[in-house]
Parts: sequence; C-alpha cells; structure tokens
Amino acid sequence: NSVTARPEQAAAGYDGAPEPIIRFEDVHKYFGSHHVLKGITESVAPGEVLVVIGPSGSGKSTFLRCINRLEEIQSGRIVVDGQDLYDPKVDLIRLRSEIGMVFQQFNLYPHMTVLQNLTLAPVKVRRMARAEAEATAFDLLKKVGIPEKAHAYPAQLSGGQQQRVAIARGLAMHPKVMLFDEPTSALDPEMIKEVLDVMKDLAREGMTMVVVTHEMGFAREVADRVIFMDEGRVVERGTPEHFFQAPAEERTRAFLEKIL
Ligand code: ADP
Ligand code: MG
Repeated sequence: NSVTARPEQAAAGYDGAPEPIIRFEDVHKYFGSHHVLKGITESVAPGEVLVVIGPSGSGKSTFLRCINRLEEIQSGRIVVDGQDLYDPKVDLIRLRSEIGMVFQQFNLYPHMTVLQNLTLAPVKVRRMARAEAEATAFDLLKKVGIPEKAHAYPAQLSGGQQQRVAIARGLAMHPKVMLFDEPTSALDPEMIKEVLDVMKDLAREGMTMVVVTHEMGFAREVADRVIFMDEGRVVERGTPEHFFQAPAEERTRAFLEKIL
C-alpha cells in the first residue's frame, strides 16, 4: 500500500523485488574535460556479488569510488542503502563506515600493529569500547586465517596476509557492502588463492560485494552477475555463464580473449 508504506518500501519494485542496496542512475563523471563515466545505470541487490571487468582506463575504479563518494559525479543519481549520496543531509562518515573498501595496494597503516589497524575505526568512528573492538578484531583475524598475526606490523606480513588484514579491517565496521578494487593484482601468484578464498567465504555468507578483478575463475565461481566496462560505459552485462560461453559484444570477446 503506497500510502502507508515507508519510503524505502514504497521504493521497492512493483514486483516486490527488494530495493537495490546500490543504484546508479545515468551517472556521468568527468575529470576536467575527460568524460570517464558516460551514463552508468546499474543496480546491486542485497547479497549480490557483482564482478566488474574491463580494460585499464575503462572507469572501473572510478565506478567503485563513486559508491562511497570518494569521487564526485557531475550528473545522475547514486542511491546507497536508501540514501541519495548527493542529498545535502547525507551523513557521509556514517555511510562510508557501512561500505568496506579493499584496494590493490593494501593500504594498512604501517606504524600500527594488525590489531591497531583493525580497531582504529571501530573505536574512533563507532566509539566502540576497546575491549569489544579487540574481541571483534580477533574474531575477524580467525576468519581470515591469521589470528597469530595480531601483534605484527604490516611490513612483517606477506602481501597475501596484508590483504587479508585489509579485508578484516573492512569487515570490522560490519559493513553492508564490500568493494574490492583488483584486490589480488599486486600479489604473487601463490598468495592469490588465500585472498580469493576469504572473498569466497564472504560471498557465501551473503555479503553484498562489488569486485573489480581479472580473476575469471573467481568470477565464474562466485559472481551472480558480471558487467564489462569499456570507455566509461557498461558495454555488456550478464551471468558468468553468459560471459564465458557466449558474450554478445565484439569488444567483450576481444577483452576476454586477451585475459583468459
Ligand atoms: P580503470 O580502473 O578501469 O583502469 P579508472 O577508473 O582508474 O579506470 O580511470 C578511468 C579514466 O579516468 C582513465 O582515463 C584515468 O586516466 C582517468 N582518471 C582516473 N582517476 C583520475 C584522476 N584522479 N584525475 C584525472 N584522471 C583520472
Ligand atoms: Mg582501476
């Protein structure tokens, strides 16, 4: 009943489908005169794993960074968890705390231990009691398989371990969405699997994830949907099966041939 429904219910699709947790409507982004997102319209449902592929420079990182407003857009609309990112009343600090982000370069604080890296935001932003933040941090370190590293510094860890800490740090705020920007691209081959395995576990637990990656095995196994970006546009979208069996667009085929 659209009269009594709360706004978020009223916003649900006519078929009762859940409101997407991320919605882009005709989003355009420029760096100066360089038009890098050319009308992106895309939705991510709660619990969905969306994999984003495409050549270097196609706008994948920019797309991801728009989701927590690390980049400003010039037109269109972005709604995350029911909040319009450009509503003047939007609480960006709170919104960002609900979106975990993992980068190619692990971006841990080098002068802090693993435990300090994991408790900083919960204590500072969420005002969580230190003991509680540390208990959560230990749970997360168990989850990513390195509880024994709590008191180590980032430089004492392998790349794969650092990236697992970065994922744990993202999870420490109990985010509603996790964004991954080529999380395994800077890793030695033997460390890629340990990071992908953590991401697969997360997906299985129902985390909403947007993952930019060239790991097509991961896409095939974990993605609910794949989008292919080229020159600032989503050129093709579909299931992993669609992409790996019968991509429709010539540009998609050419790209997949290069990376597979
Ligand atoms: P991808 O992640 O697919 O490689 P990006 O989103 O990083 O692509 O970049 C898209 C385009 O925007 C590229 O042409 C890139 O050079 C440009 N770009 C990205 N970040 C900036 C920036 N901060 N300033 C100017 N141009 C940028
Ligand atoms: Mg990128």
